[in-house]
Amino acid sequence: ELKKETLGFQTEAKQLLHLMIHSLYSNKEIFLRELISNASDAIDKLRFAALADESLLEGQADYAVQVDVDKEARTITITDNGIGMTREEVIENLGTIAKSGTAAFLNNLTGDQKKDSQLIGQFGVGFYSGFIVAERVEVHTRKAGEAADTGVLWESHGESEFSIEERPRESRGTSVTLYLKSDCAEFADDWRVRSVIKKYSDHISVPVKMLKPATPATDADADDKEAEQPEAEPQYEAVNEATALWTRPRSEITDEEYKAFYQHVSHDFEEPLIWSHNKVEGKQEYTSLLYIPKRAPFDLWNRDMARGLKLYVQRTFIMDEAEQFLPLYLRFVKGVVDSNDLPLNVSREILQKDSSVDAMRSALTKRVLDMLAKLAKKGGDDYATFWKEFGQVLKEGPAEDFGNKEKIAGLLRFATTHTDKPDQDQSLQDYVARMQEGQDKIYYVVAENFNTARKSPHLEVFRKKGIEVLLLSDRVDDWLMNQLQEFDGKPLQDVARGALDLEDDSEQAKAEKEKLKQDSEALVERLAKVLDDKVAEVRPSLRLTESPACLVVGEHDMGAQMRRILEAAGQ
Ligand code: ADP
Ligand code: MG
Repeated sequence: ELKKETLGFQTEAKQLLHLMIHSLYSNKEIFLRELISNASDAIDKLRFAALADESLLEGQADYAVQVDVDKEARTITITDNGIGMTREEVIENLGTIAKSGTAAFLNNLTGDQKKDSQLIGQFGVGFYSGFIVAERVEVHTRKAGEAADTGVLWESHGESEFSIEERPRESRGTSVTLYLKSDCAEFADDWRVRSVIKKYSDHISVPVKMLKPATPATDADADDKEAEQPEAEPQYEAVNEATALWTRPRSEITDEEYKAFYQHVSHDFEEPLIWSHNKVEGKQEYTSLLYIPKRAPFDLWNRDMARGLKLYVQRTFIMDEAEQFLPLYLRFVKGVVDSNDLPLNVSREILQKDSSVDAMRSALTKRVLDMLAKLAKKGGDDYATFWKEFGQVLKEGPAEDFGNKEKIAGLLRFATTHTDKPDQDQSLQDYVARMQEGQDKIYYVVAENFNTARKSPHLEVFRKKGIEVLLLSDRVDDWLMNQLQEFDGKPLQDVARGALDLEDDSEQAKAEKEKLKQDSEALVERLAKVLDDKVAEVRPSLRLTESPACLVVGEHDMGAQMRRILEAAGQ
């Protein structure tokens, strides 16, 4: 007798399932993209594993995904001859969600369908999307290299539990069968399914095959072929293009194809903001296809968020999340890199030491920075979208990547007294272009929030003289300015730090200053006595026009914001 057991979904998985079914209904066809994407991943994994152990192929290396529909039974089945799963893997992969930050993600849900569906999009919809269209899902699988009787059948109605039992399977790999809901019968229709595959899976590098439509038999056919082959095998044909997208010439790839491929590699629901596709030849040979997403992933600030590129070597998939090809401050970039030089048995350890990887990393970093510069130059809202989502991450750049400091600085955006608005939309180039005759520094003020920055007493003299000041209030800003030091040869100057050299040198100004000094001598003395060890010095100044006094940080002392960060860290 075959052992059958019923198990409950992990709580998070149950929540996600429920959510998926209820908020993605208006976009239901994406389930097919997800299931084909999993099938293609499974084939990639087998291809990679077979590099080390050819016996896993069981003598069959004709990789393909097959999609079968049955109108009468109202089913659609996606079959792959990839790596397959053991019983334990089925329970783990289809019954739980292992992704880090899942609980935080679920807490962020609002109950507002539209917002939630976008969040799920960022989270990645995956296997459970089958339940958007199916009332029951069956997964029949057998791990490559294992005996036929290790096959298992997983089944669920997408509520709180699933069952799993032994079910022998001759061929390695996985079949996913969806028993469609009555209002989703369209996905058992051959032509409808073909068009969805074309739309989402054209770029998948393995063929996605469907049964050849029966052609009405002509007299000639009846005479020759059918007489010769009375019991012809059912004929399958590839529905998709089936060449790895990045290997095709740029001129032949449409924007739609680039976008669909992005959704495949990123698991993102949204379209990308921009991409860059390049083939490098010469000392090193590789192809890269890099994308900037439109929206930050929910776990952008999570230390172990999935990041890095999909690595291929000579078109063979090697690994996901190869982190060595881009610096941390560009961790939001998605895409693939396909090297002709790296060995097929390359590992993460080798990548860390390989000097050719360093060269690729610096070239890819430049590509991304150039792509961002292009996006900024293009005008429109796209760069503002990018900045809103990823600006804080980019600010880590100057510290991590000193060599590209100037390039990164050009991509930064700030709020300034020029607009007096909280939107960070002014570049340092904009500032420099507006600098006054004789002004040789870029001034900034740092405060806890925008309003405090805008109302800082330190700005009074600048406003009076019409000199622009950057209004900084992000946590990293003080630190960022310390890293940058200057832009375009102009030093960055904190207006709350040290003496300002704004005063003019005219005789009149000098006299005014001298008089101020004499007039306030007694007051300064008294204040210095009262404040005693709390301040280093009390001095009269022309920097204020309305406020009676302000605190100034010494030229070489730590900034107030930096001090707060260290205090918060317990130092
Ligand atoms: P993701 O693809 O982002 O990992 P999914 O929800 O799509 O998430 O799939 C969950 C896991 O189930 C996959 O990571 C994989 O381990 C496993 N899986 C799904 N479909 C297949 C398949 N056709 N063959 C082998 N494993 C699969
Ligand atoms: Mg998937």
